[in-house]
Amino acid sequence: MDIAALADKIASGDRRSLARAITLVESGRADHRGQAVELLETLARRDGPQALRVGLSGTPGVGKSTFIEAFGMMLTARGLRVAVLAVDPSSARSGGSILGDKTRMERLSRDPLAYIRPSPSQSQLGGVARRSREAVALCEAAGFDVVLVETVGVGQSETMVAEMTDLFLLLLAPAGGDELQGVKRGIMEIADMILVNKADGELKSTATRTCADYAGALRLLRKRPQDPEGFPKAMTVSAVEETGLDKAWEEMQALTAWRREAGLFEARRAEQARYWFGEDVKQGLLARLEAPGAREEMARLAEAVASGEMTATAASEEMLDRLNR
Ligand code: GDP
Repeated sequence: MDIAALADKIASGDRRSLARAITLVESGRADHRGQAVELLETLARRDGPQALRVGLSGTPGVGKSTFIEAFGMMLTARGLRVAVLAVDPSSARSGGSILGDKTRMERLSRDPLAYIRPSPSQSQLGGVARRSREAVALCEAAGFDVVLVETVGVGQSETMVAEMTDLFLLLLAPAGGDELQGVKRGIMEIADMILVNKADGELKSTATRTCADYAGALRLLRKRPQDPEGFPKAMTVSAVEETGLDKAWEEMQALTAWRREAGLFEARRAEQARYWFGEDVKQGLLARLEAPGAREEMARLAEAVASGEMTATAASEEMLDRLNR
């Protein structure tokens, strides 16, 4: 494969080349991995355009796909190119993906300025996230202005998406006051904006109240150095009626401009690169445990430990020695 030619095509905005490249980074084959590394290096050296990377999380049914479609269409109507990727923790378990599905965003998937890519299926969430992070870089190199990364609200995957995006949005549904407790503190802490969706019809007043509750909760969290006055922010939107979306986009741009000005935007990306370096090394070590031979050796030593033939300490030493050889 001619990596330089592929990089050229991606940079020129060729869709099929982008799709091919994402397939390449998702592949588990060692030779593909080598090519993927070379491609990512080649594109990084070119110092191409920068996208705004936006993470979006929410529990199933909160309206993520409806929101992404409406929000995405609003952006493309302004001439912006939008890519949608997904980090689906369930794909790590079941092999199937419920996020980033084109059938969930039919209008947007037909929009020539938009590109939608479902979550890669990998055996581990770490693998899913790492591939998605590389896909984000590819979409950026392909000249997308906004890269949206969707995930579902179950903890770990949110942290990973926050580590690959510049802004992190939490989408919530209107709810009674006591449900506020249900949102984990950790997620509130990484959210740059909380969007209370479904602020329409009968749900409108509940949404307004929920939004005020979250605004209060956000104020109680320690103010973060990466935030200007008024952030993190809670707002109401309606993905169905397409209201509040312009305002949300304005706020996202204002926050981004402020962080750029303060040097925090680039600093955050540098921190993220550091994070992914560490993650990749850990994933690589774990993969070595799964390699042919290693797995059998693990099983053999585990058996020896269980039967009392070896101590756990001696067996783990032997295994680590073997991996280091
Ligand atoms: P996801 O599972 O988070 O992707 O949620 P969906 O986008 O599939 O939406 C779940 C349900 O909520 C669907 O029946 C949507 O029509 C509905 N929904 C999504 N956004 C809104 C909204 O802004 N207002 C109202 N009333 N319903 C919405």
